Amino acid sequence: MDDKPARPFLPFARPSIDEAEIAEVVACLKSGWLATGPRVQKFEAALAEYFGGPRVLAVTSATAGLHLALLALGLKPGDEVITTPLTFVATLNTIVQAGGRPVLADVEPDTFNLDVGRVAKAITPRTRAIVPVHFAGLPVDLDPLYDLARAKNLRVIEDCAHAIGAEYKGRRLGAFGDIQVFSFHPNKNMTTGEGGAVVTRDADVARAVSTMRFHGIDREAFNRFSKAGSQEYDVVAPGYKYNMMDLQAALGLHQLAKVDGFNARRGALAARYQKLFAGWRQIELPQPATFPHRHAWHLFTALIDDKTTGLARDEFIAAMKEQDIGVGLHYTAAHLFAYYRREFGFKPGDFPEAERICARICSLPLFPDMTEADQDRVVGAMAVVLGRANA
Ligand SMILES: *Cc1c(COP(=O)(O)O)cnc(C)c1O
Repeated sequence: MDDKPARPFLPFARPSIDEAEIAEVVACLKSGWLATGPRVQKFEAALAEYFGGPRVLAVTSATAGLHLALLALGLKPGDEVITTPLTFVATLNTIVQAGGRPVLADVEPDTFNLDVGRVAKAITPRTRAIVPVHFAGLPVDLDPLYDLARAKNLRVIEDCAHAIGAEYKGRRLGAFGDIQVFSFHPNKNMTTGEGGAVVTRDADVARAVSTMRFHGIDREAFNRFSKAGSQEYDVVAPGYKYNMMDLQAALGLHQLAKVDGFNARRGALAARYQKLFAGWRQIELPQPATFPHRHAWHLFTALIDDKTTGLARDEFIAAMKEQDIGVGLHYTAAHLFAYYRREFGFKPGDFPEAERICARICSLPLFPDMTEADQDRVVGAMAVVLGRANA
């Protein structure tokens, strides 16, 4: 017989799926319509309502959504797109895939978000777009960013993978601005399994995304020259296969209805972490932004101060695993990956704020179904691992 673990492993993230999602997936399976169909349509309409009426295009992932949104800008070789080094590498990969050159600007040391002053300095005559990432669910300071974009005639694609339900100065991200891309990966604040959505108020971008997410097929264009309801179509470009399935939307319909509640729970747990860690010198905690905002609390990050603890971040994560607690790493600074060093000449020292953060950062367990007892276990284990008892 296997030894039973003394305590269950506590992951850093876990989706909240209940009977409503399960019943909807079963109903979808029984309906015989599994791929893109009525449930995707309903999910897109629900998202459009959630964001106050923009165009919404459901896709297979935020990565696919970023790729399509960038393609919609029609980048020419050598065109530059400015983003942050403190992100998941999909943000940079999709810029390259869409034919652009990723240009990075360093982050603010306290919010970990793009520093708009540094973005301004990174603009050249080849710059076409800015891709800010609302890191951990904390909104980027969008007013100065959009002012800059307008002044320099740049497009903005907000990477909202962490930030569904977040608000900037009383307005929900996705309810204003140029283009937003959301992720519904199981680790994110709501899930469709894999999945994502592109949100925009620009009819041309919406049309391009719609066409390119399904083989470059443009039914609208064809139907102008044919009888309505025709099964024929035209192909206007070699498009992709990025359409969301009804099976995924079945999950999303119920997750979306609950996401504000999920976020409220995340916020309460984050506030409790802040309280429990008050006075700890071994870790640096996330700082709030100075403008009015609602944080989506996708991640609760801590910087491990190896000078105080004598413990490098990776050693900390390994020691927590020994305590059956999962701690995430978001992220390795993207410019330090081999491809980006080789292809674009990035090197250590280029973005010191991001590098300082990325060398120390980790994500503590945070998900809506986490209990206060779970949280106490995390804090207790950290007290042991970081030697707080002896501090
Ligand atoms: C998760 C994530 C993505 C990619 O999302 P997928 O839906 O997994 O493709 C992109 N950017 C950031 C910042 C993310 O965290």
